[in-house]
Amino acid sequence: MNIGLLAVDSNYPNLALMKISTYHKSIGDSVEWYNSLCTYDKVYMAKVFNFTPDYGYYINADQVEIGGTGYDISKSLPEEIERMVPDYDLYKVDHNLAYGFLTRGCPNHCKWCVVPMKEGGITSYMDIEEVSAGRKKIILMDNNILASDYGLQQIEKIITMGLRVDFNQGLDARLVTDDIAQLLAKVKWIKRIRFGCDTPGQIAEVERAATLIDKYGFKGEYFLYCILMEFKESFHRVNYWKGKSRRFVPHSQPYRDYKNPHQVVPQWQKDLAHWSNRKELYMSCDFRNFIPRKGFICGEYFN
Ligand code: SF4
Repeated sequence: MNIGLLAVDSNYPNLALMKISTYHKSIGDSVEWYNSLCTYDKVYMAKVFNFTPDYGYYINADQVEIGGTGYDISKSLPEEIERMVPDYDLYKVDHNLAYGFLTRGCPNHCKWCVVPMKEGGITSYMDIEEVSAGRKKIILMDNNILASDYGLQQIEKIITMGLRVDFNQGLDARLVTDDIAQLLAKVKWIKRIRFGCDTPGQIAEVERAATLIDKYGFKGEYFLYCILMEFKESFHRVNYWKGKSRRFVPHSQPYRDYKNPHQVVPQWQKDLAHWSNRKELYMSCDFRNFIPRKGFICGEYFN
């Protein structure tokens, strides 16, 4: 069969498409990125977000299969495909780099988050040896690894194997105990440890967790995901780290209501994210003095 793959709204390596590619290649099919000038027996379309536009053109294929959170949060890959080693060549991923999950789901129910709805409570999923498949740098997309005993055992294994990792969805600072801090300080991180900092209470939790991890020798960066909701509270939470240390790097994320994909992101959220997500801008300029476009100064948001 002739298979086409179409990533509708993201260039980030898509695990499902990479595994689908491996599966079809393993049964002798030919697989390539979808080209609208060619015809296919089957095309797989993946969409990550539900607020991005759909692919707007005719698909030249006998069969089209859609998947991903942007189309259907309940859909998952068949087990035999799910367990396959991703076809990294699809994205020309560095030969030493792997992507995957050790756990799925999350026990929490943050109102802005689709994970509990999509994946349910936390469960063990794969072993780091399976995910790494001989590669030494691993991007792990677990949503709340510290909430799982299995996840903690996997972190121990990561340390033993000497792998370099990034939990790129962030860790939950509230779960960092002294023992866990000691464990995290032993991990070889790809540049940084990421935490969620989505509520006012999380500021103190991140500081507490960072102090514990630093005590065991970590000297790297703390990257903080900050969801934006109410203006003054969000501004305070994002701006707070400026006076703390350059090691704390906030990253603003405009709030998206999963149930309302047509919601318009308020301009202040776009401006705050524009300012905070560029470190040099964040460190050198007060948000009140930031001029994102001609004739508008962000100090007006405080009136
Ligand atoms: S934001 Fe994080 S902690 Fe909250 S439900 Fe989602 S994955 Fe869990």
